[in-house]
Amino acid sequence: MKIIAGNWKMHKTFAEAKEFMNVFLPNLPSSLECRVLIAPSFPLLGSMLDRAQNRPIEIGVQNIHDHEQGAFTGEVSASLVKGMGAKFTLIGHSERRQLFHETGSFIQKKIKRALMTGLQPILCIGETLQERESGNMQKVLKMQLFEALDGCSQDEIAQIILAYEPVWAIGTGKQATPETAEEAHLFCRSQIAIKWGEAVSSTLPILYGGSVNAANVKALMQQKNIDGALVGGASLSPESFLSIIQYNY
Ligand code: PEP
Repeated sequence: MKIIAGNWKMHKTFAEAKEFMNVFLPNLPSSLECRVLIAPSFPLLGSMLDRAQNRPIEIGVQNIHDHEQGAFTGEVSASLVKGMGAKFTLIGHSERRQLFHETGSFIQKKIKRALMTGLQPILCIGETLQERESGNMQKVLKMQLFEALDGCSQDEIAQIILAYEPVWAIGTGKQATPETAEEAHLFCRSQIAIKWGEAVSSTLPILYGGSVNAANVKALMQQKNIDGALVGGASLSPESFLSIIQYNY
């Protein structure tokens, strides 16, 4: 089953989230061919979880801290959001790597914390334009993958979702072509197979993220190794997100 995840980033007030759900929920089809996930800002979590109860959508968060609790002013713990009912967390989004200087080892600890807490991690990796143009795409993906997943067992890898998000395609309107994305997904899958074996790599969901919208989602989803999408801007409007999750109708 494909997975379509919306990343709301630092968008939406309480009233705007309510307005979104007022349109989104009544228009959700009764049976969906994909898992639908939404990651709102932390303060919206409680109300989004209430609204999503008994509906075919899962609510999660955009970030966690690697410590269970402690003196980390401004941070939010995995156990707090898990206790509220969050199902998943993004980890290592390029905005967190670039703007908040998150390192590979910090990301690795967050993956461990998410797994320990029972939150499904969505690990985001991807190269910048400069890294792609200098022929270093594979090297970067491999490094980000192995740094983040170092020490994980096969069982742990089986609980993870991977998101390939080329940095040059995020929020720019420049999406990777389905073929370009497929090539990167295949590369990531082959790297997982080398380290953790064919069985776990063949079932690992790999989402594509980077300017996905209602017009381009179908062609992306038709690729063999693209198991879903991580959607930023186009997940903010209920109409557009509804079209994306029903890309096949
Ligand atoms: C993202 O935030 O992960 C993302 C892919 O954003 P956008 O869809 O806006 O490019």
